[in-house]
Amino acid sequence: MAKSVVDAAGEAGVCVVGGGVIGLTSAIVLAENGYRVRLLTRDAAGETTSAVAGALCWPYRIQPYDDAVRWSLRSFEVLAGLAERPAETGARMVAGTMVEVAAEPGADGLGAWYDAVPGMRPARPDELPEGYGSGRRARTPLVDMPTHLRYLERRLAAAGGVVERRVVTSLGEAGRGAGTVVNCSGLGARELVPDPQVYPVQGQLVIVENPGIDTWLATADSAAAETAYVLPQPFGVVLGGTARENAWSREPDPAVAEAIVARCARFFPALARARVLAHRVGLRPARPAVRLATERLPDGTRCVHNYGHGGAGVTVAWGCADEVLRLVREEFGTAQEPGPPASRP
Ligand SMILES: Cc1cc2nc3c(=O)[nH]c(=O)nc-3n(C[C@H](O)[C@H](O)[C@H](O)COP(=O)(O)OP(=O)(O)OC[C@H]3O[C@@H](n4cnc5c(N)ncnc54)[C@H](O)[C@@H]3O)c2cc1C
Repeated sequence: MAKSVVDAAGEAGVCVVGGGVIGLTSAIVLAENGYRVRLLTRDAAGETTSAVAGALCWPYRIQPYDDAVRWSLRSFEVLAGLAERPAETGARMVAGTMVEVAAEPGADGLGAWYDAVPGMRPARPDELPEGYGSGRRARTPLVDMPTHLRYLERRLAAAGGVVERRVVTSLGEAGRGAGTVVNCSGLGARELVPDPQVYPVQGQLVIVENPGIDTWLATADSAAAETAYVLPQPFGVVLGGTARENAWSREPDPAVAEAIVARCARFFPALARARVLAHRVGLRPARPAVRLATERLPDGTRCVHNYGHGGAGVTVAWGCADEVLRLVREEFGTAQEPGPPASRP
């Protein structure tokens, strides 16, 4: 079959904009399926929102829930596989409790998630913190993001993908030559598309020395501006958190940090005395609904948008990346004929 869209090297090409978890996973799935991928990113991976994430595999602050659960289940499967090599990939399977879930099963929109996660069950009273009447217990992927992002970059390079640090000011320009651009610019989509529906939900975290915690615990209230979660990572325990809509600052607030530690110490009293190692603030790229869809740009460039994953980008990344591949292949038809699939490291 003739290739009707070729890049300078004469191969089917895709330009991915964004080098956070969404851009890297999209780029990897495309590159491993034979596309010649160039990824453009303003920030180094370690400087993205993705590097700040907790990062528990659980749908939170993302819409629509039906799609999010489907994407999350695919990511669960991929991350569970990567968790067999935790030092290399940053993914581990860790048991934990999500407290304060809806009284009626499925009333929070996550029924399909509860049904499908292997081993998910109602928490026993002795697994719940004092004052909480319900919760779910499961062994889920928990991802050390700095390690995971480095793994994703290596895996992309192994599949032939090329990463360039560059600010993109036009999706059409970025896609020119390649013919297809995949927009994974997160909060950057607000100016780049431009899409005023994308807005920040600021989250602050405190990293403390681990006083011996080996399970995670989180509250599931998606509407609350102040949450509490405790995520044991190899580099320390991640304590959260906050969810402030339309707050743009990336500066940690000492009073907020103190309140986070106090909330988490209600669950694990030893945290009140744990040495603070670092403070983190990130801006979740929120949107009323994730935009994962195709668009023909005015200059004819094919564009797949993949942004607006709010508080669950790590959770849904691999599921969304599969959808990007399907959209590039099916919606844009046979114009892109990739090379043979690459082997996966
Ligand atoms: C405190 C906190 C805790 C979180 N915890 C979790 C969790 O436990 N589980 C979970 O699943 N998720 C969690 N999240 C959410 C998760 O971090 C995000 O959903 C995810 O990182 C979004 O990924 P992204 O790749 O879309 O965006 P980003 O990581 O922000 O990446 C965007 C990329 O686009 C690039 N870019 C933007 N504009 C341009 C431009 N014009 N030109 C070139 N490049 C551009 C940037 O440089 C960057 O590389 C958390 C977030 C925060 C802040």
